[in-house]
Amino acid sequence: MSKSILRVEELKKYFPIRGGFFSKPVAWVKAVDGVTFEIEQGEVLGLVGESGCGKTTLVNVLLKLEEPTSGEVFFDGLDLFNMGRKDLRRIRKHLQIVFQDPFWSLNPRLLIRDIVGEPIKVHNNCSRGELVKRVGNLLEMVGLPKDGVYKYPHEFSGGERQRIAIARALALSPKLVVLDEPTSSIDILSQAQILELLKKLKESLGLTYILISHDLSVVSHMADRIAVMYLGRMVEYGPAGDVFDRTAHPYTKALFAAIPNLDTEGIDSIATIEGNVPSAINPPSGCRFHTRCPMAEGICKKNQPPMIDLGGGHMAACHLIE
Ligand code: ATP
Repeated sequence: MSKSILRVEELKKYFPIRGGFFSKPVAWVKAVDGVTFEIEQGEVLGLVGESGCGKTTLVNVLLKLEEPTSGEVFFDGLDLFNMGRKDLRRIRKHLQIVFQDPFWSLNPRLLIRDIVGEPIKVHNNCSRGELVKRVGNLLEMVGLPKDGVYKYPHEFSGGERQRIAIARALALSPKLVVLDEPTSSIDILSQAQILELLKKLKESLGLTYILISHDLSVVSHMADRIAVMYLGRMVEYGPAGDVFDRTAHPYTKALFAAIPNLDTEGIDSIATIEGNVPSAINPPSGCRFHTRCPMAEGICKKNQPPMIDLGGGHMAACHLIE
């Protein structure tokens, strides 16, 4: 039976803009503004939306790198924002991230042994010999030779460095891994290999992924569910096939518009949508997309649309859905 691993309820993250006397907040950037969703164990959730819509802020809050403004998150049944230090330490092991650019995320002065082994050293007491053995096994798991432990990052290609970043993220046997644009800074051939590796690891280790990508062919290849964000809010959410085939929200339609056939390789970028993304400090009233929506009507300017259940777990927040 499927099991929920992550449940996010009405999550908000506002950043203060300080000014005036005593640098008091004079305004707030509503980076994430009431987001609700759920991921089941073993699933891949594809998180998409234009730059600045709040994807990074959302995962930073989930990874406890940022404090939430309000809302609740349950990871593996535990309340992420209300737990003791011991539980938190245990939970942190299970939440990991692979960053976009393996060149910058790996310290060039450290041996791979220390880069991949660092989380193990922090969380476990183990001898140097044991550490080398464990790092060697992790390298093998991501398709690299074990003797890579005594090399430096510059001795590897871009694709290999991304494998090292994945090995590091897997060092503590996590349950959920955030993949932040995992293939955007590597060559095309390595991209396909990294995606296959991620799929294989997911199956063999029972991992759950949150995949952030601007490349919709990557999302369609990997994701079981898709969450579409616009200006801090979720506008459409559901099983990937359904969201691609029965796209409901005008924003999602605009995002997908540049891709005539999602199986077509090479057509990969999110469509440019008319107009600029409005400010997250003063988001538009009603539906936040109404200022750019070709179908907007009076109600869209006035009322925030509720999430409408379209069946089978597919939901969209638009007044114009029949
Ligand atoms: P990208 O795809 O470019 O990474 P994103 O969808 O991940 O974008 P975020 O980086 O989460 O978007 O940013 C969401 C909003 O929050 C933006 O308006 C951004 O300027 C703002 N923001 C992010 N971090 C901070 C911060 N520390 N202080 C103030 N505003 C912030």
